Amino acid sequence: MEKRKLVFATNNNHKLEEIRAILGQQIDVLSLKDINCHEDIPETAETLEGNALIKARFVYEHYHLDCFADDTGLEVEALNGAPGVYSARYAGGEGHDSEANMKKLLQEMQGKANRKARFRTVIAFIEGGDTHLFEGTVHGNITEEKQGDSGFGYDPIFRPDGFSETFAEMGNEAKNQISHRANAVKKLCEYLSQ
Ligand code: IMP
Repeated sequence: MEKRKLVFATNNNHKLEEIRAILGQQIDVLSLKDINCHEDIPETAETLEGNALIKARFVYEHYHLDCFADDTGLEVEALNGAPGVYSARYAGGEGHDSEANMKKLLQEMQGKANRKARFRTVIAFIEGGDTHLFEGTVHGNITEEKQGDSGFGYDPIFRPDGFSETFAEMGNEAKNQISHRANAVKKLCEYLSQ
């Protein structure tokens, strides 16, 4: 039987690999590039839910394909949930400068005893025009310095609860078992196989 095709509204190869590793057996996951969408979809909402919905709706409305999109933030307790929805652009500029973002976060956390944080992913899935939201979280701590070099984003400074290594030291396979995105994707998967 032919696999069901779903668009994942991203061109981030790390995320595509992660999601294909989890969903690839049952779903043919297409990227924005795969459907020839080269638009830079603006992420202008003030919540993760809002941004995920903007991206998924854009694809559904322009390409008439069922689509899911995710948005993720790192929420640090001692910083009242920052950087949150602004995680990609925390250090300013165009964003996605992970080194600058981690440097800023470690500076903000200097001298803070409470280093609790969580990654939170929201997936918006538009199916035949209906909207479904799925959330996944992973709790942990912000380390004092960078450790490890696998993964991406804030991985070198996030140590998940119950582990002695950061996400960047664990490697992708172990991270994919427990990550915020994995937890959100599992919920999407459960829904898809209902
Ligand atoms: P996005 O909007 O889902 O791309 O995520 C926003 C930002 O959060 C990214 O630019 C990364 O800095 C960070 N981020 C998202 N997922 C992860 C992850 O799995 N590990 C580390 N950082 C992440």
